[in-house]
Amino acid sequence: MVTENVAAYAVYKGLDIITNKMPIEEREGVVHHLMDFMAMDREYSVLDFKADASKLIKDIHDRDHLPVVVGGTHYYIQSLLWKDTLLDTKKDAGTMSDDEDDTGAKPSTPEEEERPHDAFLRDSDTPTLYKKLQEVDPIMAKKWHENDRRKISRSLQVYFETGQRQSDLIRKQHSSQEVHRLRMPACIFWVYSAPDVLNARLDTRVDKMIKGGLFDEIQGMRKNIGPETDYERGIWQAIGYKEFDPYFSALEKAVTDGEATVSKELETLKAECTEVMKIRTRQYAKRQVQWIRNKLLPLCREEEVKVYILDATSLETWKQNVSDIAISIAKDFFAGNLLPDPKSVCQYAKEMLVPQRSNDTVGALEAWDKKECTLCTEMQRIMHSKSTAPGSTGPTPSPVIIHGPTGLEQHFKSKLHRRMKTNKADMERDGDNWWFFKAQEFKKRRLAGLQKETSIESSSGDVTDNSEMSKDGDDVDRPKPSKIQRLDQAKEYTTKD
Ligand SMILES: [Zn+2]
Repeated sequence: MVTENVAAYAVYKGLDIITNKMPIEEREGVVHHLMDFMAMDREYSVLDFKADASKLIKDIHDRDHLPVVVGGTHYYIQSLLWKDTLLDTKKDAGTMSDDEDDTGAKPSTPEEEERPHDAFLRDSDTPTLYKKLQEVDPIMAKKWHENDRRKISRSLQVYFETGQRQSDLIRKQHSSQEVHRLRMPACIFWVYSAPDVLNARLDTRVDKMIKGGLFDEIQGMRKNIGPETDYERGIWQAIGYKEFDPYFSALEKAVTDGEATVSKELETLKAECTEVMKIRTRQYAKRQVQWIRNKLLPLCREEEVKVYILDATSLETWKQNVSDIAISIAKDFFAGNLLPDPKSVCQYAKEMLVPQRSNDTVGALEAWDKKECTLCTEMQRIMHSKSTAPGSTGPTPSPVIIHGPTGLEQHFKSKLHRRMKTNKADMERDGDNWWFFKAQEFKKRRLAGLQKETSIESSSGDVTDNSEMSKDGDDVDRPKPSKIQRLDQAKEYTTKD
């Protein structure tokens, strides 16, 4: 048996911890290909992977061995197994990304010459990029959050490089029956754990990575940073690097300033960064499952590729629940025997192998929307103009924009919206006296020494901007969520498609 790696970051040389390479002693003598060969300043694209992996698979087949493709970057596996997807053309080339967007496109190799749009994408600020996207591909613009620079750039890049709108490409991809064709017979094993068990395991893994030398690797990487380093690309996107940036920046500053490198502040920062890394790891694992269910399984159903879920929730039963079953099925597959029904293999199969939602990606894309709550926008502006002293002109509050297909319904239940509704009713009832009463109320609260709140509706309704609300001292009774909570609750726009 020969194993081929499809954990996108494991291609990088060294950096065994941050890329989570399988330790040599656990490989049991099985040859692992496509690992440990890329320099960290290089980028390895999905096309590079496809070319290298296809060659290896052919070579392994020719020796009458069974290649096993292993890994967590399902986007790579998909492009390896299915041909004629959009990614088969050079100009649609995508590089790996942690959110595995199947129509993503990035220029692939560093030695390629810079094209005019590269400079535009790199040097323009996010609002400019967003405006451009609204012009060229309004459907994608509706889908992305206006601050999500990476998504916006990627959609623009598809447009610049292919001359076609990304939304049109998605539509084409989903309307043609011809687009997906299996390149080789395959049988897929999905090693699955119940989410609560998996999350605890992932947390432990992060702790282990730290004990095993993660910080040395990060510091080594930091020494390799050049003026050209783009953190949105290549190895720099690996979970762990960015997450510890606040800690290492503070540590490096302490060294430069000749201050203590062990302090309570630094320890707190380290603990916070660790927590952020754990959250990101869990979010990534969740996205992987969503990717399998929403993208990989529909393809497998079309081509009748069998997918077997192996229950790895308990490690004590690994042999009987995972390895014995997998080996027996793989033998039958290799011998061309009849394979068992995937639903019979594991208790999770029935639940996980059914389509999670309709396959209508284009419909979902078009339903995606940003809507304005005119009530909140209007009331915030009125209250802002009343609370601003004559002559002084603070910035007018931005419109209250809600994202996503169900965003507005959720927003109507939010505290902000309910409060603005009450304010509006009060205003209509009390007329000119309304603001006077309101001002009295604020004054009383301020006198009571209540703390000002600087952010509102941070998690639930995806409200883009209502920072001006802080001025009137309203909403003082709501505790401010910590940075970490916010991250955990943050909506993942990327998983909506
Ligand atoms: Zn509202």
